[in-house]
Amino acid sequence: MTAKKSLETFLSMVKEIHDLGCAEELLAWDQQTFMPPKGAEARASQMAVLAGVRHDRLAGDRMAELLAALDESEKGGLDPDARVNVREVRRLHERARKVPAELVRELAKLQSLGQNAWVRARKESDFPSFAPWLEKILAVKRRIADAIGYEGSRYDAFLDEFEPGATTAEIASLFGELKKALVPFAGRILEAARLASIEPIRGTYPIPEQEKLARRLARMIGYDFEAGRIDVSAHPFTTGYLHDVRFTNRYDENDLTVGIFGALHEGGHALYQQGFDPAHEGTPRGDWVSLGIHESQSRLWENMVGRSRAFWEHALPLLKESFPDAAGLTLDAWHRNVNRVEASLIRVEADEVTYNLHILLRFEIEVDLVEGRIEVADLPAIWNEKMRASLGIEPPDDARGVLQDIHWSAGLLGYFPTYTLGNLYAAQLYRAAARAIPDLEGCLRRGEFGSLLDWLRRTIHRRGRTYRAGELVRVVTGEPLRPSYFMDYLEEKYGALYPE
Ligand code: ZN
Repeated sequence: MTAKKSLETFLSMVKEIHDLGCAEELLAWDQQTFMPPKGAEARASQMAVLAGVRHDRLAGDRMAELLAALDESEKGGLDPDARVNVREVRRLHERARKVPAELVRELAKLQSLGQNAWVRARKESDFPSFAPWLEKILAVKRRIADAIGYEGSRYDAFLDEFEPGATTAEIASLFGELKKALVPFAGRILEAARLASIEPIRGTYPIPEQEKLARRLARMIGYDFEAGRIDVSAHPFTTGYLHDVRFTNRYDENDLTVGIFGALHEGGHALYQQGFDPAHEGTPRGDWVSLGIHESQSRLWENMVGRSRAFWEHALPLLKESFPDAAGLTLDAWHRNVNRVEASLIRVEADEVTYNLHILLRFEIEVDLVEGRIEVADLPAIWNEKMRASLGIEPPDDARGVLQDIHWSAGLLGYFPTYTLGNLYAAQLYRAAARAIPDLEGCLRRGEFGSLLDWLRRTIHRRGRTYRAGELVRVVTGEPLRPSYFMDYLEEKYGALYPE
């Protein structure tokens, strides 16, 4: 077969694998939104069949032959886009081939049983009943990491699944730098916030009106409803690709911020998914880089844009049109409300100042666990000690402590750091956007989001997987990732809200 023919066959197989993935995602979306309860068992089996077919295509001998005929190095004669596609598919192919099928099945079974055990354990705040499952999951994940291989820490192999190219040493150093600045800063802001004791704004806000507002805000920032839709689910998420990107949201009848920031967060993920280059549809060159970069897109719209005063100068009148209960709100009061700071036990409820402290402690625990420095049985005590040290509060029970997140029970070790990476990337990217776009703040004030979205399309979305995350940030901002951009952002905003 000629090289040209190999590339054509390779790309058509890659697109087939992509389509199988999209079909799986659509089934999963339906499961979370509209599927009747009795459909669960058949759905699980449908999704497992598709996942099996997709895995076989990716890891199979046919793909191995095609990859053997293709060379993504400089001298391989491929164009730059094809080189990206061969490099990325080779990485996934090798990863998939290295892990024995028996381990994949074992993990899938443990994930399902482990999650059931976690749901029960959390409900009863009973960590010891979950501990044996976490031991088993950890053991299988360790064997998988060893099968894949790693250079520095075994945790590198875990990270590689979510943030390709990132290393434990590099993240430990970044997070160490962040922690040094963040802990004292958060301490000062928490104390000032406690003294100011700003009560959250509550009222009665009918859900249908909230849904309308969420749609209006999503449309306003550029989300394309001809290529997407918004529904409701218990845990908001975004799914789909390019011309069909759906997200879900949730609402609280007494608190507007839940639905508004859910929509802006998921809307940010969705803008990324809708923004890939259609010329590279269904290939890595037209797909997302890493979970950290994905999270940077959601955080940029949710926080840098959505919690700014400039944004609400434009958006508060829209909010008041929908809700009589909000008629008397001032811009200052609302801006303070959406930026309330409080030491809280639960990660998903945490504000911008304290959120990363929740992630740092999870990262430290995961690395120590994977590298064998601590034991599963000691996790509750270690967790509580770290909460006391970084946030000054201690969970009254494990349900609100070590058992609060689903991730470990689902085998998602190495996932947590991508949340903080997303926050750090977002601050650095937003600063670069503010340098590139004349009067970005004025644009937000006038409700003009096109220039920011165009900039993100050009610098991030359209580039697809051309660069790894760290490299992409360097190319776009001219510097490697630095926590100082995030700290500057916090200091500027919260320093003004809570002056010394
Ligand atoms: Zn997100």
